[in-house]
Amino acid sequence: MIRKKLLAMPALPATQQMIETAAQDRGSYKKLYGWQNYTTHVYDHDWYFRAVVQDGILKVAMYSRSQLVLGDTDPKLEIYINRKEEKYITWIPSEKRWSKARISYLDDKRWSTIADDWEEPGARQMVNDYLQNGEIRIYNAVDRFQSSLKNAKLARAHQSEKDRIDAVMDLVPDLPKDWEDWIYKSAYSRDMYLIYHPGEDRAYCTACGKETTRKNARHREKVTCPNCHKRVTALSWNKQKSLTDTKDIGILQKLKDGSGYCLTVYGSKICRNPKTDWKVDTTNSRWWKKSRHIINSDMKYVRKVYEYGDFKNTGEYRWCNQVQHGSYYYDGPSSECVLYHRNLKRLRKGTPLNYMPVEELFRHCEGWYSHVTDQLYALAARPELEYMIKAGLYSLAWDITRRGCPGNETVDWNQKKLWNSLRIRKDRIPMCVRMDITERQLKTLQKAEKLNINLTSGQIAWYSREFGPEISQEIWQYGHVEKTKAYIENKNIRGVDYIDYLHELKKLRIRPTEDVLYPRDFQAAHERTSQQLREKEEALEKKKVKEKDRILKGMLPELEELYLNTKADEYLMVLPTCKEDFNREGRENHNCVGGSYFDKMLRGDSVILFLRNREDPDKAFCTVEMDGSKVKQCRAIRNSEPPQEVKTFMEKYSREVARRIMKKQEHVRINVAI
Ligand SMILES: [Zn+2]
Repeated sequence: MIRKKLLAMPALPATQQMIETAAQDRGSYKKLYGWQNYTTHVYDHDWYFRAVVQDGILKVAMYSRSQLVLGDTDPKLEIYINRKEEKYITWIPSEKRWSKARISYLDDKRWSTIADDWEEPGARQMVNDYLQNGEIRIYNAVDRFQSSLKNAKLARAHQSEKDRIDAVMDLVPDLPKDWEDWIYKSAYSRDMYLIYHPGEDRAYCTACGKETTRKNARHREKVTCPNCHKRVTALSWNKQKSLTDTKDIGILQKLKDGSGYCLTVYGSKICRNPKTDWKVDTTNSRWWKKSRHIINSDMKYVRKVYEYGDFKNTGEYRWCNQVQHGSYYYDGPSSECVLYHRNLKRLRKGTPLNYMPVEELFRHCEGWYSHVTDQLYALAARPELEYMIKAGLYSLAWDITRRGCPGNETVDWNQKKLWNSLRIRKDRIPMCVRMDITERQLKTLQKAEKLNINLTSGQIAWYSREFGPEISQEIWQYGHVEKTKAYIENKNIRGVDYIDYLHELKKLRIRPTEDVLYPRDFQAAHERTSQQLREKEEALEKKKVKEKDRILKGMLPELEELYLNTKADEYLMVLPTCKEDFNREGRENHNCVGGSYFDKMLRGDSVILFLRNREDPDKAFCTVEMDGSKVKQCRAIRNSEPPQEVKTFMEKYSREVARRIMKKQEHVRINVAI
């Protein structure tokens, strides 16, 4: 639409009829219903409309009543619409400017009006014919046309975003045929059950899917399936109505255009119930899309993340760009899942993982969670892991990479030889492989090697499970490795209790002889050392208090000079002379003066005083905290407000103390001057 041509269209000034109608419009009082019923003055018409169509363009002119009664014939708005071109623009005569805004935004008075619009005879018909949207008021016809254009524009923008997303999604291959088989067999391999018939020698193993014999299992006990030898949880056949396990699972796939890889993460759940004899209930088991992580060919960089969900709150569920949740802590959907491993050998060709048998790693660690994109990064960034995996140290390689931190400190990456990187002796490698050593176990072994202790694989497993590397190292400094293990196991002692006991021995400086380290009655020995330690600590505390009391006594002469011997008939000020005075005041007056105030006074931060009735000078009455001459707190029993007489006295007292302090300072100044 050419603006010059629009302005050349027939002018539509207000007609005589409109001006007269507006002038005669006296309005009326109308009862309105809202939050509260009320009566208000309403004109017959607030807004007036004219329209014309010329050369395929509709021009609508809109006038306000307030304008017309002043005799102003200029329209308030002139709206030009080209329906074929799906365009509109508005001329605002009073401001001499164009606007692309919709009528509902330009006309701010509109929302409050309840009066009918005045429309020139024939104008409504003309507008409706032109805009082809049924029989409605001119204003509504324009508004509807304009918003439909806006919606169409939004839909076009949405479509182009969806097209861009789908272009990437189309590059992701279909799921492999054995996907579901993998879910049931591998993804959940750590959540398998041996469900036994109570009182019978029959059981069903969900890991191998076979009927087998029951091995005296207890409900919820971890057992080994006699058939497939997998670790499974024993469950009594009738003790649960159903079993549901959930897991996030994922698959890595090469994009069809070869530009990278896609990790798709799905949520999943597996249901079992006795109706299907605890086999997977396929009608209720499901998996659903959660997120997609597009990874570069180098396996290190995540290019883009998509989330499956409600597209821009339109109710359409589909792949969306990662939603910006505006939270500092949220950095997008997690890539943590159990990864499908059967395609990895093929996938790693041509990537930095070319020589690394990662499929072996994932197969051995089947059913375990890892942050897959981070783990791939760690694997790609550390080619040294190839030797670790090829040597068969799967659990270790897994522990080091599962959170994706290539700067792991357990291993020395600068070493060429595997044993040197693991910081252990060469001859320990076969044992590490045999036991498929974990990171925690390796750390325990490393500590032992430092102390020149030769651990067996059983000892490594036990110590790392019970105590972990740091505490194990501490224990070994006291006693014999195997003897200690046997002792703790036989006596059924909790690890933390034994450590406690060792710490007490150290603090008490008791020589750790055999009898001390492995007492016949551990609980009794532990209680004895605890008691001794308590006594020792109490004695120490007493000594400290005694020393502090001495310091307070040294401070008293000056404090007495400033704070005591005031002339009051009724009240008496008392200074505490030792820690016990604080405690007693706290007990009797039910406040916390027995806590930190003693130390506060010693530091000179405040002065604590006890206000007493002269008639009963030994009985607690008010507890006072002063800072110089300022009264910081004055509390009666249970921290209550003191009586008015006390407050009056305290004001007087404060002034008295201030005078004494000033006098003392003057005295000091004079002395210094002399
Ligand atoms: Zn089995």
